[in-house]
Amino acid sequence: MRRGGGDTAFEEASYLTRFASKVHMLHRRDEFRASRIMVDRAKQNPKIEIHTNTAVDEVLGDEKVSGLRLSDTLTGKERVMPADGVFIAIGHKPNTEAFRDWLEVDAKGYLVIHDETNSRIEGVFIAGDVHDHRYRQAVTAAGDGCMAAIDAERWLESQGIHEANTLTAW
Ligand SMILES: Cc1cc2nc3c(=O)[nH]c(=O)nc-3n(C[C@H](O)[C@H](O)[C@H](O)COP(=O)(O)OP(=O)(O)OC[C@H]3O[C@@H](n4cnc5c(N)ncnc54)[C@H](O)[C@@H]3O)c2cc1C
Repeated sequence: MRRGGGDTAFEEASYLTRFASKVHMLHRRDEFRASRIMVDRAKQNPKIEIHTNTAVDEVLGDEKVSGLRLSDTLTGKERVMPADGVFIAIGHKPNTEAFRDWLEVDAKGYLVIHDETNSRIEGVFIAGDVHDHRYRQAVTAAGDGCMAAIDAERWLESQGIHEANTLTAW
């Protein structure tokens, strides 16, 4: 069982077919935000069944998932679907609220980088998933962290700052 209608949901549904004999994709609307190629690929996969206009009202089961209580978003009609597991794939929301008054964010809410790891504020550097809506991996975030640390160190040097003083001023 997989929930969502964007690229994330389709990507994850395809991945799950490696382990599951059947993957049901549930989506509250009848249109998908995902790219056409992802939707087509899922539709051609015999292990994936797509259920549009379907809302999840309850996950059933005590110690283990046994199914879902679903309702049709158009008619309100309820039904129970047996399932061995539930995976929610409704995309990513970057945790950038705290920075929005200070740093530039793109349309999806990710921080915008200017040259290497620089933000638009001198001395503030950006690294990791807060700016990366494409890869979002531990190794890419760690690489970013290393780059930002080097840039920060060089910036401190350029300012003639060699000691660990408190520089933050929010
Ligand atoms: C379920 C799951 C599975 C994953 N599996 C893999 C995988 O197999 N391989 C892989 O490479 N990647 C995987 N990832 C992605 C990987 O975890 C991330 O890409 C990586 O952790 C991003 O690192 P980051 O430092 O940018 O952000 P984070 O690891 O999210 O670190 C951000 C830190 O900032 C802290 N923070 C947030 N707000 C504030 C605040 N206001 N003040 C102070 N601190 C704050 C948070 O507590 C957190 O410690 C997975 C992610 C998830 C969710």
